[in-house]
Amino acid sequence: MKNSNQYTTMVNNKYKLKVWDILKIIVKPIFEQFPYIFLFLNMMGFWTVYNLAVDRLTATEMLSTIPSWSNLYARAVVLILFAYIGAVLMTVIRNKPLKRFVKILIYVLVLALFLIRYFIRRNFDLDINPTCFVLLAETTGAETADFINQYVFSTGALSTLLMLVVYTVAIFTLEHLWSKKKDWLKKMPSCAKKIVYAILFFLLLSGVYSTKIYWTIYNIQIPDNIRLLNPPADPISSVYTSLVSLHIMKDNVQDAIEINKNVYASENAYTIQDDSVNIVVVIGESYIKWHSQLYGYNLNTTPNMSAEERDGRLFVFNDVISSSNSTSIVMRDLFCCNNSSAREQWYDYPSFLTIFKKAGWNVYFWDNQRSYAKLATFSFTLNSFLYNPELEQILYSKTNSTTFKYDADIVDAFNESLDVAGRKNLILFHLLGQHVAPSGRFPHDTFKHFTADSIDRKDAFLTEEMKEYIADYDNATLYNDYVMSKMFDKFKDSNTILLYFSDHGEEAYDFRKHCGRDHGKLSSMVLKYQYDIPFVIWCSETYKKNNPEIVERIRQAVNRPFVLDNVCNMLFNIGGIKTSYYRENLDLISPNYECKERIIKGEYVYEKIRYAD
Ligand SMILES: [Zn+2]
Repeated sequence: MKNSNQYTTMVNNKYKLKVWDILKIIVKPIFEQFPYIFLFLNMMGFWTVYNLAVDRLTATEMLSTIPSWSNLYARAVVLILFAYIGAVLMTVIRNKPLKRFVKILIYVLVLALFLIRYFIRRNFDLDINPTCFVLLAETTGAETADFINQYVFSTGALSTLLMLVVYTVAIFTLEHLWSKKKDWLKKMPSCAKKIVYAILFFLLLSGVYSTKIYWTIYNIQIPDNIRLLNPPADPISSVYTSLVSLHIMKDNVQDAIEINKNVYASENAYTIQDDSVNIVVVIGESYIKWHSQLYGYNLNTTPNMSAEERDGRLFVFNDVISSSNSTSIVMRDLFCCNNSSAREQWYDYPSFLTIFKKAGWNVYFWDNQRSYAKLATFSFTLNSFLYNPELEQILYSKTNSTTFKYDADIVDAFNESLDVAGRKNLILFHLLGQHVAPSGRFPHDTFKHFTADSIDRKDAFLTEEMKEYIADYDNATLYNDYVMSKMFDKFKDSNTILLYFSDHGEEAYDFRKHCGRDHGKLSSMVLKYQYDIPFVIWCSETYKKNNPEIVERIRQAVNRPFVLDNVCNMLFNIGGIKTSYYRENLDLISPNYECKERIIKGEYVYEKIRYAD
């Protein structure tokens, strides 16, 4: 009995011994390569995580744009894991010259990545993103020379050089000091050592667990959705997410090219009406339906559109929503004949523009966002579709080449460059609308109509500054109405039908201390402000006279629930276009229209959240 007990104790001791030995072996590279670990964390993300943590601590309220504590922890431990992997490589190699080579190589890679990111941040206020890789791949020798000439003596380049010097000195100094002082660990009391081992092991373990985000990113269908996951933004993770985005977009755009090419070559699309006609589609930006006088707002933000409504030329639709609050997702679903509520993907369906063109129409696309935030990821995903050189040939007859600070100028530019009389034209405008920040969306000398004093609201959270912001949002809305009046003027004497809608809504301190859009939790109010959209159809007197039947159908449809991305079906109907891609049950002005379930963000039923209480 005694023997057996002794044996158990011995086994237990041996087992305990083993656990600590294994932990020691696991964490050993961290101590061996401590200077490297320290510098890696410093260069790759310590300051990012630190700054985000400070934001989190000093945030006066819960904002979805600030990462949660668990997200910050995940980011930090993933970095520690990455650093650790390098340290393991440096430690396990026994061959001295090889060991030295690997160590130098890892240092060089980490330092290069750090400096590249530092440089583009300083010079372009950008992070590593898919566009950087596209530019890199497309850059020619001459452009590289230009680039070097332009930036070699910039302050960004000089401070990058300074960073190179600082970190190189730091590497040599710390490595040197560490090689002399390594034995302090041996002097540490054993219980303290155990605590340190256990903590480090736990950090590494949670690092391994947190890498599951990379798997989620790998399996994502839409590149725009990656940022909704709030992924780590250190340079290594940014390279990874950029490459995944590029890969998905390349595949998707390839599919889109294929289907549009096929449809353009073989689809039997034709027009049944002979009159010359203009269908104008104006795509607004970030328009909050509830800031429009047309939908009962208490300020006169739409005098021109309201006048057109009174005169019976403008029809206001009351229940239209967008299936996403991201411009690039909305634009792709809008341009393509897929039905997002049935979870159909944009790249599996042709664009309605291709079908109009195939049916003999001129298709014009005047896009005032063409050069907007050109280097951002969302522009990359959208523009790699809209302006793919092969697709451009199929989709459009002509596009704009210049963009303008204010939207009215793009209407003038269109009028000056094209005479559209006497043909069948599909004309699309894409405006900057009320995109953040709204104060930059209208000329202040002529459209600074509303001020903080005009905002008659009693919410306790509203400061004077917020009221100023709301007033500017309303000024931008008023300016948008002026842009629309220019369109009405341009087309009033022709056979024209015009659709205006926004890609999605927005928030301007409407019910909480928040402006812009967010991608956090959905609620009834979030849906009301960010997903409900204004949607109107305007008909010139000529159009009304020539097409009484269509006008009557429009009149009957104004209260039907609708999701924006199905608008192509109504356009086929209005244009008298016969195509196999037309779906009558999705055509808002068809007597056979039916709206089953409206799905937003690919998964949520709109009605369930919007009318929850
Ligand atoms: Zn947008």
